[in-house]
Amino acid sequence: MATLDFLGATGTVTGSKFLVETGAGRLLVDCGLYQGLKALRQRNWERLPVDPASIDWVMLTHGHIDHTGYLPRLVKDGFRGRVCATRATADLLKILLPDSGHLQEEEAAYHNKRGTTKHKPALPLYTAEEGLAAAEAVKGVDYRAPLALAPGLRVTFRRAGHILGSATVTVEIQGRRLVFSGDLGRYGAPILPDPMPIEEADDVVVESTYGDRRHDPAPIPSQLERVIKDAVDRKGAVIVPAFAIGRTQELMYHLAGLEKAGRIPRLPVYMDSPMAISATEIYCAHPEDFEGDMRGMVMNRNCPLQCGDFRLARTPEESRAINDVHGPVLIISASGMATGGRVLHHLKQRLPDPHTTVLLVGYQAVGTRGRRLQNGEETLRIFGEDIRVRARVETIHGLSAHADADGLLRWLGTAGRPPERVFVVHGDPEPAAALAARIRKDLGWPVRVPEYRDRVTLDGRGST
Ligand SMILES: [Zn+2]
Repeated sequence: MATLDFLGATGTVTGSKFLVETGAGRLLVDCGLYQGLKALRQRNWERLPVDPASIDWVMLTHGHIDHTGYLPRLVKDGFRGRVCATRATADLLKILLPDSGHLQEEEAAYHNKRGTTKHKPALPLYTAEEGLAAAEAVKGVDYRAPLALAPGLRVTFRRAGHILGSATVTVEIQGRRLVFSGDLGRYGAPILPDPMPIEEADDVVVESTYGDRRHDPAPIPSQLERVIKDAVDRKGAVIVPAFAIGRTQELMYHLAGLEKAGRIPRLPVYMDSPMAISATEIYCAHPEDFEGDMRGMVMNRNCPLQCGDFRLARTPEESRAINDVHGPVLIISASGMATGGRVLHHLKQRLPDPHTTVLLVGYQAVGTRGRRLQNGEETLRIFGEDIRVRARVETIHGLSAHADADGLLRWLGTAGRPPERVFVVHGDPEPAAALAARIRKDLGWPVRVPEYRDRVTLDGRGST
């Protein structure tokens, strides 16, 4: 009899890990790192409730660290099985996992320097080198091509539209189908096509990040056009703190479109982030992730994510050279909430200039510099200095990589017949409960919000 254990992303949006135990072996769907609250991050250091050496396969839904960042640690703790993901995810992991290892090393070094550690010396969860080794062992697979892991056990990846390479994962155990949504993208979003239909499912595990929300329908290009035109009139720079994967490419796509339509003047755009540059190259190397015009452009090596005067800053010298650029210019740089990264140098230099615009394009968590700017604070502390904020601060809403409640319901509705059970995961308690209530009310399906370490049997006869 097969079982499903919830080992992460219960009551929270990080640490995704779902263990499927079958007669043929043990399969882990996603292998995510806990992020955010300290009580959760502490779990990254506890031993996994299952011996990593006893796991046979790991299937990764997409590249984000909260779904993949525990993999190097799993390997370090004895896992020797096979890891599969889509081809684009496998490529993205070669930049994401070493970067995650690098951050772990920096954190350990910080604690050692400050003496803020019980363990002497503090060690990283894993190193950049271990991150890269884990990523290089990931096997890339095709969409909609069932992968036979053992007799009676098959896995199929279908596009999820969340970020490049993102997929839903269907696990078939003796013909019974268990479908994981992973993180689900938005319907009708630019760049990536809509999520593929579920087809058939007996059990569904669905995310609920925005399970209680409806996204703002105001069109992004019009919002962007207004901010850019205004900045050009004032002959100043536009600084955009943006996440390297997903948000940066979506922004580039909209800019290129506005330029082509003549809605904004052609102005120099700097992408100042080595990770964003590599990620954009990976976007343009995977036509299988696109449909229609986008696919055609990518196949013809005509990257749809580049505007007319597009400049890359890979090295620190190239990044510093941007300081001498005056007049209207757009600088896209990480991190997305201005908590670190190269964007801090640009903010430090240009915030005191009233011609500057800071454009925020994503969620800004409480306590971050991004949120402080949004709140209209008059000074901002950067590299130990209080920097005066004379720049204009603008926010564009609606650039989210996650489906809202309507989108999640729409995807569930693509199941060919009602599933026997739905499990709502990957959400804070309120959005998870709200989505569960809607599934019950609108679809009339049995639904449950599992807790950490809950186990259910997969024979259709309820839970243990
Ligand atoms: Zn994600």
